[in-house]
Amino acid sequence: MEVLGGRGLLLKAGNARIWLDSAVERDGLSLVSHAHLDHAPRRLSKIIATPETASVLSLFGSYKFERLIKYGESMVLDDVRISAHSSGHVIGSSQFLLEDSSGSLVYTGDLNTYDSVILRGARPLESEMLVLEATYGSPRYIFPAREEVYARIIRWIIETIKAGEIPAFKVYALGKAQEIIGLVNAYLRIPALASFTISRITETLSQYGFKLEHLPINSPEGLEAFKQGECVYVSSKRYSPPSQRRIRWAVATGWALRYRPSGFDAAFPLSGHADFSGLVRYAEESGAKQIYLVHGFADELAKHLRRRGLRAEALSRAP
Ligand SMILES: [Zn+2]
Repeated sequence: MEVLGGRGLLLKAGNARIWLDSAVERDGLSLVSHAHLDHAPRRLSKIIATPETASVLSLFGSYKFERLIKYGESMVLDDVRISAHSSGHVIGSSQFLLEDSSGSLVYTGDLNTYDSVILRGARPLESEMLVLEATYGSPRYIFPAREEVYARIIRWIIETIKAGEIPAFKVYALGKAQEIIGLVNAYLRIPALASFTISRITETLSQYGFKLEHLPINSPEGLEAFKQGECVYVSSKRYSPPSQRRIRWAVATGWALRYRPSGFDAAFPLSGHADFSGLVRYAEESGAKQIYLVHGFADELAKHLRRRGLRAEALSRAP
């Protein structure tokens, strides 16, 4: 079993060729870890993904799925056993364990090791080789406890409404959008209004048991709630219907820990990714003998892991 980087991420195991969130050539299978479009280029064929990921992707394009795999399930394809496990990043996101007679490998995809109001954080999977994402793999990124960030968000929402303004979040349509809606549902007795795209995704995911109460902004009830003003608006674009009230826009992203995005009234360090500590803990607990880092601070995280006695390198070998 070997894994190659370059323009895509390719696992070679015996005769099997399995692309990980990429596909440079049309041969082989493609594991898609989640439905963010940078992980699911349109040219993919023979996709393996969770049913949640497949449902969301199907809203935006015609993808060809080979097999769907639920968390905890496993299947054997081209002599490789593939199993799927939650990665805690967005609803339906999966880390994959791949095993054959030569060894085992875990591909995490985007990973969040911390529990959120809607998802359980990813638990480390044991394997010989690990391909770990390193988006926030620098010690400069250690996030506050999620509960503390939640408390800040709730306080900001309440203050904004008290000031006669409308709190609005510009967030990813899949991921932070559902988390903010879940947060509003759990702690506030006001409606969460969702933009058209967010509403479609959230509706689709309700079939998997995620009951996230929200009103589409384009529905009569949504428009009425927006006019009345005591609500939270969640949108993937910075656009809202006209209102007498001023709208206060916030972002929720891990980058807010160090950067204040311009043009926003507030920024919260709420991330769908693990921070440095979470990534280091995952790497150590996986027991992997060889760790490859991809994305973000791959070189920096590799250096830190090597200092801790792990065999780690940024994945750069091209297929
Ligand atoms: Zn993602």
